[in-house]
Amino acid sequence: MTGTTQDDYTDRYARRVRGMTTSEIRALFSVASRPEVVSLAGGSPYIAALPLDAVGEMLGDLASQQGATSLQYGIGQGTIDLRERICEVMSVSGITNASPDDVVVTVGGQQALDLLARLFLDPGDVVLAEGPTYVGALGVFQAAQAQVRHVAMDDEGLIPAALEEAIRATAREGRQAKFLYTIPTFQNPAGVTLSEERREQVLDICERAGLLVVEDDPYGMLSFEGDAPLPLRARRRDGVFYCSTFSKTFAPGLRVGWILAPHAVREKLVMMSEANVLCPSAFAQAAVTQYLSTMPWQEQIKVYREIYRERRDALLGALTDLMPAGTTWTHPTGGLFVWATLPAGLDSKAMMPRAIAARVAYVPGTGFYADGTGRGNMRLNFSFAAPDRLREGVRRLSGVMEQELAM
Ligand code: PMP
Repeated sequence: MTGTTQDDYTDRYARRVRGMTTSEIRALFSVASRPEVVSLAGGSPYIAALPLDAVGEMLGDLASQQGATSLQYGIGQGTIDLRERICEVMSVSGITNASPDDVVVTVGGQQALDLLARLFLDPGDVVLAEGPTYVGALGVFQAAQAQVRHVAMDDEGLIPAALEEAIRATAREGRQAKFLYTIPTFQNPAGVTLSEERREQVLDICERAGLLVVEDDPYGMLSFEGDAPLPLRARRRDGVFYCSTFSKTFAPGLRVGWILAPHAVREKLVMMSEANVLCPSAFAQAAVTQYLSTMPWQEQIKVYREIYRERRDALLGALTDLMPAGTTWTHPTGGLFVWATLPAGLDSKAMMPRAIAARVAYVPGTGFYADGTGRGNMRLNFSFAAPDRLREGVRRLSGVMEQELAM
């Protein structure tokens, strides 16, 4: 290696690496985490709300009393104890017909997406996904050299007619998408939820078109106004791959998620995971199992919901009071994010350095599209900053926007 900026390995990289660029979110994290910056950029849960002393004691006991298994290798699919607990967790969300045999434990929800991409995607394959969609899923699909076609949403989530049109457009090219990737409940980044009626329509459309569905549901339990609509997987068993994670309901640092897969493909997923990580962390799995068995996990979710509801209200209130005319935003009924649409002429990506200088961070909308659109949008997170900080962040942001509009 000669310099620090020059990459002498460029010519040697595999083709799938050549198109990869740093995620805008990750690039932002270093600046956004400076204490003087109000960060509306991340997606971190408010871990301080956990009973950390009790969790610490539990983790210590796991090593001292169950170390022979919790610090040992495990099996690729994940422990049966955890898979049984995961089925109980899913039944709370309305998925009551899951067998532990069809659950594959993963290293966070992120590895769940990666395994599904490894299982289904060849270079050049088409994936349909909401526009905007989860940046980490875009990274996985990009690494798989797949093409993402976005399907538009409105306040009720994915628009069925737009999905039908995307399927027709793909068919006109003589191709068929491998799957629809969707986050139907409290979507990241848009903060919208697919309505009851549309859930059935979307499933019918996919069934008719022979399109598999990858349902990503990290946020479904974080509802602020009654229960969320039933997951897609609770409505259809065949052709739906359900992914979720303990990152938002317990703790992302443990990196434990899962896939509930149709029985036929479960074994292939386990083989993919073994090739990838051998087995998920036995210690992290034991920690989640113990947490679910001995601690009031549903009460903890209520605590998270209360905190996030208050923060959502603080963020929406501040947006109403302070944003320049012409700005609009979504009204999430759960989850962690608000999606804002800026007044005409403003560019969230170009504005970012000025926002950082004004000590506020957000994620430009472009991070959530595969095709560079989204300059007129930004994602705002409300789970991490306290209500008064959220308001201060919006005050700084609106100041920057007013200046841009005056230019
Ligand atoms: N899917 C979605 C929609 C997400 O927002 C996230 C995390 N932000 C994940 C998957 C991955 O979560 P993790 O790997 O932390 O479980």
